[in-house]
Formats: sequence, structure tokens, C-alpha cells
Amino acid sequence: MGFDQFGIVITNRCTAACKFCGWRCSPKNHGVIELNMAKDAIDQAVSLGLTRRLGLTGGEAFLYPDLVRDILKYGRKKGYKVCSIATNGFWGGWSDEKIDAVLESLEDCCDLISFSYDSFHAEYIPEESIWHAAESAGRHGIKFHISVADVKGERGAGPFLASLSEKALKRSYDFYPLQQIGNAMDMPEEMFCRDLTREEVSCKGFGLFTLLYDGRVFPCCNPGIFDTDLYMGNIKETSLKDMLESSDVFKYMRLLCNKDYYRRLIIRAEETGLINVPEKVVSGCEICHWMFRDKKIADQIYPMLKELYQEMIVHNFLCKKEGE
Ligand code: SF4
Ligand code: SF4
Repeated sequence: MGFDQFGIVITNRCTAACKFCGWRCSPKNHGVIELNMAKDAIDQAVSLGLTRRLGLTGGEAFLYPDLVRDILKYGRKKGYKVCSIATNGFWGGWSDEKIDAVLESLEDCCDLISFSYDSFHAEYIPEESIWHAAESAGRHGIKFHISVADVKGERGAGPFLASLSEKALKRSYDFYPLQQIGNAMDMPEEMFCRDLTREEVSCKGFGLFTLLYDGRVFPCCNPGIFDTDLYMGNIKETSLKDMLESSDVFKYMRLLCNKDYYRRLIIRAEETGLINVPEKVVSGCEICHWMFRDKKIADQIYPMLKELYQEMIVHNFLCKKEGE
């Protein structure tokens, strides 16, 4: 399995403080990545072959349009084929003049803008802002799409889209089930779309790295993982190459991405009373969050992971030998 995507969370600051924010971003946060660190990380990622997709996110990336431009231009120069930005679209409230100036500077280095918009974002971002920002992106030749978080009940994707203006009918959307992480941990259980059995879930993170504004590198981009110590190292201290070669977390990702072994890990964690998995869950990431968010639980999970990982390696080795 190869690497495909390098994500950079440039800030934990946001214009909004959504009730469901998986990473508790808000205007009160002030973490921002240094440009030189982002450039150095891109150099390292490129030397490891991560040159297909570069994605910037936050918090709210458009709070720092010059930084976004400089990072994406650098990424493009270094060979990234698809460069994208995730945003809440607040900047659709800017004047046309300001929007055009920013988007013009991104024309040659940004292929896609991904808007997050749903009943939770709508508490902070007026609908007109989204359409204004999206139409402006289109005018500058930048593709866009809209991601909608889904929950059960009246705040779900269906009722929300139905409440929007006619303009909304002309757009297409991606839907994703909301996870009970971050601020969403305070939301009632019954709101979450727990539709998958444990047999159906696994980790889908393999193949990408995410660099946080503070230098920590995670092996996926799920916001829940930023609440855990499942990070591979800090780029201020360790190179990406060394992280890849020596990080246990990276090794364990191979196990989490294997459905059978992930299920066995879940069963072991349950049998020892560390977690209690309901019959149905939102995703494999939700279970991952239960296993690794609390350090005391995670410290007991790691030895199980290690044992299963060793078993998996031997099994894979024997299968390979038989196939020779
Ligand atoms: S969900 Fe998005 S828009 Fe809302 S606070 Fe978090 S980062 Fe900001
Ligand atoms: S299962 Fe865990 S490691 Fe895998 S993508 Fe989800 S949060 Fe990341």
C-alpha cells in the first residue's frame, strides 16, 4: 500500500465554534503553523513519494489566506498534483474585491475547495456566504464540493438541505455520519447514525499523513485522532523518514486497516472490560477513539496491539511463503 496524501492542519483557530466540532476549534484558539515548518515538511513528504494530494485544513484555513497561498504554491512547485483547502466558507461574507484577490492568488495552486456546511455550521455561516464563496471559486476555475454532516432527526442532512433555498438544489453533496468526538461528546447518543456492525468497520487511514500546526504527525486525518497520543512523532524533533521507520503507531496502522485483526483487537479490548462497543457504530474511527482517547485505556490496549501485530506479521509471512 503506497502513500497518497499529505494533510496539513494549519491552525486550530476558527471563526466558528460548532457544537459538533470534533477538534474543539474556536476563535479563542491561536495555534498557527510556521511557513518554514510547513515547507520543510513538504520537502520531506515529497522525498518519501507523497506527491499526489496535498490538503490544507484547520480550524479555518482562510483566516490565513497568505499562509494558505504560500504553502500551496510551494506544494505545487514541489509536484503535488491535487491541492485542496477545506473551509467553512465564512469568507463568502467578504467583499467581491477581497474574495477575487485571494482566489486569484490561488488559481495556479488550488484545484479544489471543500466546504463544510450542515445544520451545525449554519449556526455560524449564513447560506448566502456559502453560495457566494462557491460561485466565486467557480469563477476562478477552482472546483468545489460541499460536505454535509449527518445525524438522526431534524438536524440531519435531509431536513437541513430541504430547509435551504432553491440554489441548494443545483449543488451536489458528500454526506458523512457525525462521530461522537470533541464537542459532539455532549450531544445525545440517539442523534448519531450508528448503522454499521463491528464486522463492517476497519481503519481507512492508511496511505496518508497529517501534520498539525504544532509539528505532531498523525497517521490519518480523522479529527478524533488528534485527541489521542496515536501520533508518530514531532517533525521538530524527528524526520518523517525516521518516523516511518521507527514509529510503532505506523506499524499498528497496518493492523487497524485489516478488518479481521481490527475486529480481534476490539473483541480483546471488550473482553478485558476496557471498552464497551454497542451492537452498531458510526465507524471504525469511533471505536478507535474509545480505545486511544483515554491514556489509561490506551496503555492497556498497546500490548494487545503489539501481540496481534506480531501474529499478523508471522501469518502474512507464512501466507507469502506458501504462495511462492
Ligand atoms: S467544525 Fe469546522 S467550522 Fe466548526 S468550529 Fe470546527 S473547524 Fe470550525
Ligand atoms: S480508525 Fe483510527 S487510525 Fe484509522 S482512520 Fe480512524 S481514527 Fe484514524
